[in-house]
Order: sequence, then C-alpha cells, then structure tokens
Amino acid sequence: MKNLKNVLISGGANGIGACLVKEFCEAGYSTAFIYKSDDASASKLAERYGAYPIKCDLSLSENAERAVEEVKYRLGHVDILINNAGISYVGLLTDMTDSEWNRLMNTNLSSAFFLTRAIVPDMVRRQEGRVINIGSVWGRCGASCEVAYSASKAAMRGFSMALAKELGPSGITVNCVEPGVIDTRMNSHFTEEDVRALIDETPVCRLGKAEDVAGLVLFLASDNASFITGQCIGVDGGFGL
Ligand code: NDP
Repeated sequence: MKNLKNVLISGGANGIGACLVKEFCEAGYSTAFIYKSDDASASKLAERYGAYPIKCDLSLSENAERAVEEVKYRLGHVDILINNAGISYVGLLTDMTDSEWNRLMNTNLSSAFFLTRAIVPDMVRRQEGRVINIGSVWGRCGASCEVAYSASKAAMRGFSMALAKELGPSGITVNCVEPGVIDTRMNSHFTEEDVRALIDETPVCRLGKAEDVAGLVLFLASDNASFITGQCIGVDGGFGL
C-alpha cells in the first residue's frame, strides 16, 4: 500500500508529462494534470487512464492558484507535485524580446514557484510530501542559442536544492530530474542531421524516451525514495558528462 497517493503533474497533455500521467495512473495513483491548450490530447489521456485534466496557463500566478483549488477539490490534497511544464526558445539571446524572455521564465520557473507555494502548506500540515522538478541537462552545461532556457533550468537546480533544505524538517523531499535529449514535440524542430549529431554526442547512442524520465520520477515518488532529497539527477544517456 502506497503512503503517498495523489499526484499533480504540470504540463501533462504531451511528451514527458503525458507519459507521467499514463504511468502514475497505471501504478494506481490518483492523478490530476495541468495543460495549456491541447484539449484533444488532454481529453484522450483523461478518458484512457482516468486522470483529471485542468486547462490553465501556468505562467500567471492567479491561474495557478485557481488550478490548485480545483485539484484540491478533485483529489482532496496533493501528496506529490511534479513541476514539468516547460517551453523552449531557440535563437540568439540578442534577438530575444522582453516578452519572449518573460514567457519562458514564467512558464519554466515561475510556474513551479506558483504551484509549490500553493501546495506545500498542506504538505507541511500533513508532514509528508514530494516535490519533483523537471530541469534539463542544459541547466548544468548550457546550450548555445538556448540561453534563456538554460538559465531557467539552472534555476530549477537551485530552487530544488534550497527547497529541499527548507522542507526536509517537514518530511517533504524535493528533487530535480534533468533529462537529456528526449524524443518529444519540444525537439520536433531538429533536422535528421541534428538528430544524428545529438545521438553521436550521447554515450549510449540514442535519444531518450519519455519512459526513461518517467521511470526515475516514479521511483522518486515512491516510498523507497524517502531518504533522497536535494538531488539533481540526469536521465541523459551520459550526454551531460
Ligand atoms: P512538450 O512540449 O511535449 O510538453 C510540454 C507540456 O507543457 C505540454 O503539456 C504543454 O501544454 C505544457 N505547457 C507549456 N506551457 C504551459 C503553460 N504556460 N501552462 C501550462 N502548461 C504548459 O515538452 P516535453 O515533454 O519535451 O518537456 C517537458 C519538460 O521536460 C519541460 O520542462 C522541458 O523543459 C523538460 N525537458 C525536455 C527535454 C526534451 O528533450 N524534450 C530535455 C530536458 C528537459 P499543451 O500540451 O497544452 O501545449
């Protein structure tokens, strides 16, 4: 019998988040997920796996707070928060506008702050919980033409480590999972040549799959991971070495 049962996944309609929704549902967790706009994928997932979808642009604080109220109404409370929603921006930093910068930071970093702030007080009251943040190998290494993205993911590392110290005494663990190049919509702009070059740079000689990431997230959510906190763990086939 699992101790922690209710999970909220941000960015759950596609890619890594959709795989998390599927795997948490199949593992018997009560699962809610937030997505921004893809109604078709969200309702398909909800119907197939029995997850509860919430449509919400998490880059705005008031939306995130409303979404959390809805999640609490549906699930009662949240035991495991997975901050996964994210977008990328590929281009020179000097070509980036203020609004592109703000949109990326608000989606990738501030959304984690908004959701965590709204959910953690309940976890503290219950003296248990898990926060799992999805960072990126680029937050460790930095990527040319993805400066804002790399900065947002580097911030997820600091956010996770500091929050782990703050919440450890309340029985809550916080970890950061850092995927390498995973085959999802986010990377659909790559040409075949780009993909070959990325595979050549990956010691295990393949792109990652969403399932590779989900396996670690499921473990970190499990009762077996209660002594693991403040860790930033790569799922990147050795890409970041
Ligand atoms: P996808 O583009 O496939 O999925 C992103 C999800 O985030 C979608 O469900 C999307 O909603 C949701 N989302 C985007 N913006 C918002 C917003 N403002 N409010 C609410 N939800 C939002 O990306 P991936 O699955 O590839 O990425 C998931 C996470 O993993 C991201 O944080 C990404 O940075 C990280 N990551 C990905 C890597 C990769 O190679 N793919 C590598 C390293 C890290 P909707 O479906 O409605 O658009």
